[in-house]
Amino acid sequence: MVVRLARLAPPLECVRLYDLEAGLDGFIAIHSTALGPGAGGCRLWSYPDMKQALGDAVRLAEGMSYKNALAGLPLGGAKAVLRKPEGEFDRVALFRAFGRAVENLGGLYVTAEDVGTSVEDMQEVASVSRHVAGLPAVAGRAGGDPSPWTAKGVFESMQVAAEFALARDLAGLTVAVQGTGNVGADLCRRLAEAGARLVIADVNPARRDRLRAVHGAEVVDVSEIASVDADIFAPCALGGALDRETVGKLKARLVCGAANNQLATPDVAALLMERGIAYAPDYVVNAGGIINVSAEYLGEDEEDVKFRVAEIAPRVGALLERAAREGRSPALVADEMAEEVIAGAQREAA
Ligand code: NAD
Repeated sequence: MVVRLARLAPPLECVRLYDLEAGLDGFIAIHSTALGPGAGGCRLWSYPDMKQALGDAVRLAEGMSYKNALAGLPLGGAKAVLRKPEGEFDRVALFRAFGRAVENLGGLYVTAEDVGTSVEDMQEVASVSRHVAGLPAVAGRAGGDPSPWTAKGVFESMQVAAEFALARDLAGLTVAVQGTGNVGADLCRRLAEAGARLVIADVNPARRDRLRAVHGAEVVDVSEIASVDADIFAPCALGGALDRETVGKLKARLVCGAANNQLATPDVAALLMERGIAYAPDYVVNAGGIINVSAEYLGEDEEDVKFRVAEIAPRVGALLERAAREGRSPALVADEMAEEVIAGAQREAA
């Protein structure tokens, strides 16, 4: 069975970023501004060519439209993707040049951290543009690294999804975590505290080995993490973790993780269903980070963030129940719900 996930129109705008001197080379893709400024992080990665960087920017921007809509945020979807310069490079110059490009868009795009970028990088952006979040928190206000909020939302979603799919709490379950970076590491900490057993993999040995020492996690090779004997698979690295081959090898009965765009192709959602593997849609469970970013940009306080992040897990539970009731993929149901929100805003604006 092949399920086609409905898709919105192509990106509203795609901006090419190029400043040879500063080492800036990439794109800002703005997919939708129906609900508010296009918001989504800035990724710095070693893309082999421009085509792959552009493809990633467009897919990630689209994902942000859906994520922001379903999280109830007054934000559209966008993303910046920068090619990491080879060898040594001047980070300050690069992120100031990026910041100037963000400022030139006059608030159409709001940036923050993503894979490969840090709070320090966003501070450089903030020196030239006000359309940035993920800056150090000011007392009483929302702000700072969004990763712990993302991890909290993923962890709580996993609790609800495990109850739904496995009729168990997390104590004693084995969770295979792919990618132990900012979000993955915090998720591991929460899982260890909840009594889960951890199996982890990361392409960066230093990142995974510190977790082995702290939580007694079992370390496996990155090529094995998806097929280890585990109850839950948590993709927390890059996108495309679930392709047909990987899903064919999964032993876990539930997939719930932080990575964006986990399904390599839309038909993988149907394959998961066929194999009886529950799937907590990526952009629903990982909304904690953008909730924090949004609150910071809008000048809200931490209580607003807590309130909205606490809504993620019940939303995931309701989504899984509705999908099961209707015999459809949770990914498809989530997309439809997000599209309804965006279409409603478009109707109101017309
Ligand atoms: P990060 O860069 O801190 O961590 C990613 C980790 O994955 C790194 O340690 C990297 O070495 C590792 N990795 C890369 N390829 C791998 C592979 N093939 N196998 C195993 N490990 C691999 O990034 P992060 O902020 O922790 O984000 C993780 C994922 O969650 C990303 O997909 C990101 O888009 C998504 N996400 C993050 C946030 C956030 O608040 N940081 C919010 C929403 C979604």
